Amino acid sequence: MSQLLASYVVQAAAALFTAVLFGFFSRTYRKPFLLHWARGFSALCIMLFGAGLTISLAPIAPPTTITRVTVSTVTLIAAYYHVAWLIFGSAEVFSADYADWLYRRRGWIFAAATVVAIASMAYAFSDPDPFGPRFTARNAIRSAIIGAAYIAATISVVISRKPGRHVGRVFVGTSFGLYGATQLHFFWVGMVSRSTISQTNYPLYTGILDFVLVFTMGLGVVIWLLEEEHSRAQSTTQEIASLAYHDPLTGLPNRKLLLDHLTRAIYQARRDKCDLAVYFIDVDRFKVINDSLGHPAGDKVLRAVAARVTAALREADTMARMGGDEFVVFTPDIHGVEDAVHVAQKVRDAIRDPIQIEGRELFVSASMGVAMYPADGQTAEALVKNADTAMYRAKAQGNDLMQLYTPEMNAHAAEQLALESALRRAVEAFEFELHYQPIVQTSDNRICAMESMLRWRHPVLGLVRPEQFIRLAESTGLIVPIGEWALRTGCLQMAEWRASGYADLRLAVNISGRQLRQPDFVDTVRVALAETGLPPSALDLEITEMSATQSEPVIVERLRALHAMGVRISIDDFGTGFSSVSILRDFPVDALKIDTSFVRDLILDPNDADVAAAVVALAKAMALTVVAEGVENPAQLEFLRAQGCELWQGYLCCPPVQASEVRAVLGRRSGGALKRLPTPSEISTVRH
Ligand code: C2E
Ligand code: CA
Ligand code: CA
Repeated sequence: MSQLLASYVVQAAAALFTAVLFGFFSRTYRKPFLLHWARGFSALCIMLFGAGLTISLAPIAPPTTITRVTVSTVTLIAAYYHVAWLIFGSAEVFSADYADWLYRRRGWIFAAATVVAIASMAYAFSDPDPFGPRFTARNAIRSAIIGAAYIAATISVVISRKPGRHVGRVFVGTSFGLYGATQLHFFWVGMVSRSTISQTNYPLYTGILDFVLVFTMGLGVVIWLLEEEHSRAQSTTQEIASLAYHDPLTGLPNRKLLLDHLTRAIYQARRDKCDLAVYFIDVDRFKVINDSLGHPAGDKVLRAVAARVTAALREADTMARMGGDEFVVFTPDIHGVEDAVHVAQKVRDAIRDPIQIEGRELFVSASMGVAMYPADGQTAEALVKNADTAMYRAKAQGNDLMQLYTPEMNAHAAEQLALESALRRAVEAFEFELHYQPIVQTSDNRICAMESMLRWRHPVLGLVRPEQFIRLAESTGLIVPIGEWALRTGCLQMAEWRASGYADLRLAVNISGRQLRQPDFVDTVRVALAETGLPPSALDLEITEMSATQSEPVIVERLRALHAMGVRISIDDFGTGFSSVSILRDFPVDALKIDTSFVRDLILDPNDADVAAAVVALAKAMALTVVAEGVENPAQLEFLRAQGCELWQGYLCCPPVQASEVRAVLGRRSGGALKRLPTPSEISTVRH
């Protein structure tokens, strides 16, 4: 008996230790299961202490005394509450939802535990035999229930384990399992061979085993928590590292990681004496895609480009996103420029496949610049910079092109910088002039309007065409004062021509998107008309389809105001933008100008002929005038005439000419029509 007493006391101490440990950790780690188990082990401690007390009271007080009854009741209630808390904690480990469901029914569960405790207490409580039916009801069944609860707890610990190290869980799971097994064994012994308990050292051994197991549970939970902490810290570190070195949208390496990898690849290439190519890729017209189709579509395009290019590359190649619509690829271990060009073509083909966005097909292209190691740079930074420079050159020549780096390109960049300061000077020194190109009626070859074309008379470079400086003027904002000057000068000039006998001649002026964004744009136009005396109906504003696509509602409002005044609006370069039809719906448009690129190959390329025909048909359906630009030969003119295109413009009539030559051009008319069209040889001599 004294053995049994000692074993209960020791076990109670272990349970107390574990309860305190769990309680302490539940505060620090805020894990609900620890709090439940802390309560559970407190209850276990009370149960074991009560069992010990019963044993010491047994020789001096019969089971029916009030002290024995009280002690036994408390012991049994503690035993079943212990089970309840153990289950709450295990449910919490298994699933928070399930635990919540159970915990909301805790009133019923504790009531049931109390009823079972009191019932087993009451059963045969006056029987004098300590190993009689009372033993079965109080001890054996209790052990069976506790054993089952521990087995369930073991299962929840095993099932809920996550990837990573789980030595702690193994400790806890194993000790729960073994503890459950000892309880079930005790149930079996209690039912079948009660003599084992009284006649052998069974209570001593099981007591020591239980003590060890309860202690192990505490230890296991400590290890478990430390492991969780460790793996959380590890995954946070990984996440931070991935954020710092990867682009979240595409998952590609970012600039930092790229430069790092590239530097290592350069060392390798230097050792192996082989070539390496760096490709700078920039998605064409990405801003238009973003502005007209929305940012989610833009994101989709970027992800598609990233995925396709990556798929087209070899394992050893690296692709990174530099930001915006810019990507860099490098391919180590290649042989010569031919290989690089081959890869570039593969990349281009991968990007070119149409991308499905909201049910429609989007054709995306990219411009690419290529720099080679060792020829074009020795460091990662230099190679990327030179590939970037080459990409800029590709872009300047048109979309969807590839350009290999050449050392002169850096000279070009320096040139651009010089050009910028020269342009600023030019605004102050009034170095600009306007040339004029006739717009001709298809029906009778009458010149009905003149389009003003900006020229920069540079003191050293001579006459500079807009393509060499308009983009720069737009990006620096200089286009605003320049454009204002062009508008006034054009209006003044046209008023003069109209006064001198060409009363119905009209003026077309190119307007940059940047000008439209000026809040006082409407006033600028109004003032220019008022001061020069040109009626609004004699003015035509040409807005490129590209800047029309990018217009916010406030700009459309401005155009409406001008339109209401009688000013006409044309969409320039039509066919090069994206959301053509929606522009036509929202914009106050009078005319569409079919872009030169479609007119150029009209006769050679059936696709271009189809586009031109479709634009004419579309415009007719919407009661808009169609102007064909860049008409260079009679065949083109014939085709356009047959389609029903009303107006045309191009070298076939004449190139843009100086203001002083305009009268001569207009004078070529007899009875308003052109006397004769120039011959092809004349056309080639007038090209700048
Ligand atoms: P745009 O408005 O599309 O003007 C037509 C361009 O095509 C002009 O080039 C013209 O010289 C050229 N062109 C005319 N006929 C033919 C032809 O038969 N064949 C070919 N191949 N080309 C022809 P330019 O003068 O160099 O102007 C280029 C662009 O610069 C213009 O394109 C326009 O967008 C812009 N621009 C010109 N003047 C101004 C201006 O005052 N303000 C603004 N914002 N932009 C201007
Ligand atoms: Ca134009
Ligand atoms: Ca145009």
